[in-house]
Amino acid sequence: MMNKSRVDPDPTTDRYAAPVDALVGSGAWRWLLGGGLVLTLLYVVIPYGHLASAIYVVTTALAAFAVLVAVRRRRRLFCPPAWLLIAGALGLAAGGHVVWFWLDLRGLEPFPSLADAFYLAVYPLFMAALWKLGHRSGRDRGDGALSDALIVGVAAAVPGWALLIAPYLQDPDLTLAQLLVSTAYPVADLILLPLILRLIFLHRARATAHLFLLVGMLAYLAADMLYAHGNSAGWYGPGGITDGLWLVAYVLIVAAVWHPSASIEPRSHVPIAELSIQRLVVLGAAAMLAPAVILMTAGVDVEVVRVAAIGSILLFLLVIHRMAGLMHETQRQADELKRLSRTDPLTGAANRRHFDDELEREMSRALRSGSPLSLAFMDLDYFKRFNDTYGHATGDAMLEEMVGVWRSVLRQSDLLARIGGEEFVVVLPDTGMDEARQVVERMRKRTPRGQTCSAGIAKFRPSDTAEAFVARADLAMYAAKRGGRDRVVLADEDGEPAKQLPGRSRYH
Ligand code: GH3
Ligand code: MG
Ligand code: MG
Repeated sequence: MMNKSRVDPDPTTDRYAAPVDALVGSGAWRWLLGGGLVLTLLYVVIPYGHLASAIYVVTTALAAFAVLVAVRRRRRLFCPPAWLLIAGALGLAAGGHVVWFWLDLRGLEPFPSLADAFYLAVYPLFMAALWKLGHRSGRDRGDGALSDALIVGVAAAVPGWALLIAPYLQDPDLTLAQLLVSTAYPVADLILLPLILRLIFLHRARATAHLFLLVGMLAYLAADMLYAHGNSAGWYGPGGITDGLWLVAYVLIVAAVWHPSASIEPRSHVPIAELSIQRLVVLGAAAMLAPAVILMTAGVDVEVVRVAAIGSILLFLLVIHRMAGLMHETQRQADELKRLSRTDPLTGAANRRHFDDELEREMSRALRSGSPLSLAFMDLDYFKRFNDTYGHATGDAMLEEMVGVWRSVLRQSDLLARIGGEEFVVVLPDTGMDEARQVVERMRKRTPRGQTCSAGIAKFRPSDTAEAFVARADLAMYAAKRGGRDRVVLADEDGEPAKQLPGRSRYH
């Protein structure tokens, strides 16, 4: 079904582009749009008869053919299956017109007729096409757009029911078949509407092709509604503006599929958490529509009140669903932001900010509970040389791998933080010096890729400030460096290592 050359990304085949691609590039859509509108105008202006009917049938059939040609021959077209469904829908509409005019021009007016079967078959194809055009993959499937479309759709269904469906239900002269077919049209329209709105809500940056398609679909809906009203109110006659509006819809659809921008996938869509002021106004107005209908028809038309009340309940549920989605998404983003704000992007270890917060917390906890608290300061040995030998990217990969390995040695309650390029600290709650040394020794030995590191460990004293605590571990680490590297040194628990060791703290 799919033309292989159309999806072929090989640029060498571009040179031999199908003639249709050349036509698309040269702006054929303008001719198709202009020609279609001229035919439409002719149809409306010419008195209703054989010629007008022929123009109508031919225009619709040509529209179906034009869409089909674009689907089969355009090399790049966004979502060809959807356009193929649309071509099928237009073909069915043309078939319906043939039957309808044939009957009408013979003075036959059976209802329902075979024409209705054709016409009603158009809707499922349109629905499937619109659904496919808005298909999303991945996490953000545009659920917000669907909810919003349903909110407006349900709101529109209430007056839609009162104006377009209820009159048929109250008509005692209709047979069951007539009633079913008559109401099937507005019901299908009311399903089509949210599908169109979903596409409108989904895409922020709209390509001209999508604009044509959506306006075309709305024109189709408008024609349907005019027809439904005109038919039940008795003013509809063929050959007028209502029929013309259907033709306009077909012509716009052709212009859409032939427009160069029909090759663009409408990627830019509104994220679920976003709710613009305009959208809020639209949703607010829609949500008020059903209660407004209750207000206006209360005591006059009980049936309409019932339908409007059911609509209101549905609207509340949809609005609550939408709000729940927004809250969920907002919370997810807040969690993600919080995680990012305290994580080192390269290694996934905690960052300096998170380390500072956690150290203060653990110090207070140790003070309250009297449980031991240890802190290790770790610095890779000659890491500059590692970078010089293997390259900076390998150095980065090594750091990433090392954090994974080190973490596997630590407990859930321990905190590993990266506070400098290749400088790390480990906060070890409920851990005394001996145990801390064992843990850090294990980390040192398991440092990957033949890299070594030096570590200094200090034990928390009740009189410590965070700076003093870290400085003691840092000085012990510095002692490890001076002692030959690749080792762990414990800060003196009783004395003042800062006075015993040369050099000054590198932790500022
Ligand atoms: P030593 O600590 O044993 O005295 O030697 P050293 O070579 O590790 O010395 P120093 O601390 O002065 O240098 C640290 C080096 O670590 C400098 C830089 O090349 C490297 N480094 C720092 N941050 C990163 C990083 O994010 N990625 C990589 N690949 N290298 C880094
Ligand atoms: Mg170093
Ligand atoms: Mg360093």
